[in-house]
Amino acid sequence: MNACTVCSTTLQAGACDWHQRCPACAYERGHLTPVINQQAVHDTVDEVGRDQALRELRLSNANALLSLLQRHLRAGQQRLLDVGCSHGWFLQTAARHFQALGIEPDHVVAASALAIGLPVREGYFPDVLAADERFDVIVFNDVLEHIPDARAALQASRAHLDPGGVLLLNVPDRQGVYYRLACGLQRLGLRGPFRRMWQVDFPSPHVHYFQADNLTELLRQSGFELLQATSVPAVSRNGLWQRIRYAQGSLAGAVVSYLLLSLALPVLARFQSDSLVCLFSPSRPIAQPVA
Ligand SMILES: [Zn+2]
Repeated sequence: MNACTVCSTTLQAGACDWHQRCPACAYERGHLTPVINQQAVHDTVDEVGRDQALRELRLSNANALLSLLQRHLRAGQQRLLDVGCSHGWFLQTAARHFQALGIEPDHVVAASALAIGLPVREGYFPDVLAADERFDVIVFNDVLEHIPDARAALQASRAHLDPGGVLLLNVPDRQGVYYRLACGLQRLGLRGPFRRMWQVDFPSPHVHYFQADNLTELLRQSGFELLQATSVPAVSRNGLWQRIRYAQGSLAGAVVSYLLLSLALPVLARFQSDSLVCLFSPSRPIAQPVA
């Protein structure tokens, strides 16, 4: 339980009682438990507000991710799987270019995506796939950091990805400027931003924080090689007000946060983004289990 997900080194105490760090590769673990599909938690999450708060940023990032994918795909590679498609922000855009399928474990969220006609299967990856289903592209867009057994999810991706396919991961970067600010504030005793970065008390909190090199190493061990590592904006002026209004309880607090963040955005944009995007290709045949 306390071994590093990437390199198996024993994890050390982190910033608080549920947080640990790897002294060897800098991987971070949050011992937070997903509670997807529990009604009490759903009642505390305003899904409509969350949808509106993140829509603008997610739609613009979806276009950026699709452009990145196109650079690494050949003509005819059409089958795309969006793992943890949520409300379908990415899926909706991807479906214009691909034969796309989404998987979403949260019943309420999956139902809302199905209601607007998106091709979504409700359940967990890879359980809802047939053993022989193959894809040219598998995408984990803000998803891998929520999956406790990330290694198993990557190995399942290897099994369901065509040998010439592309795996796209978009994960929070522990070297990102907002995460580093949140860590600094945590050390000063201001715990809110750090808890927010890990999505404590959300139905599906973050359980991993990677950076480019340890993520690439985890993927190498799972049968992938890196094609490209880059980033997309984690925060933008588009939709900023809706996002702050959703996160901030009071109107006055939201106005102050919006003004401060609007002023700081041009400065913060010069530092490393919190959204790490890595594209991988399968590197070798999967070892067959010994009978
Ligand atoms: Zn490690």
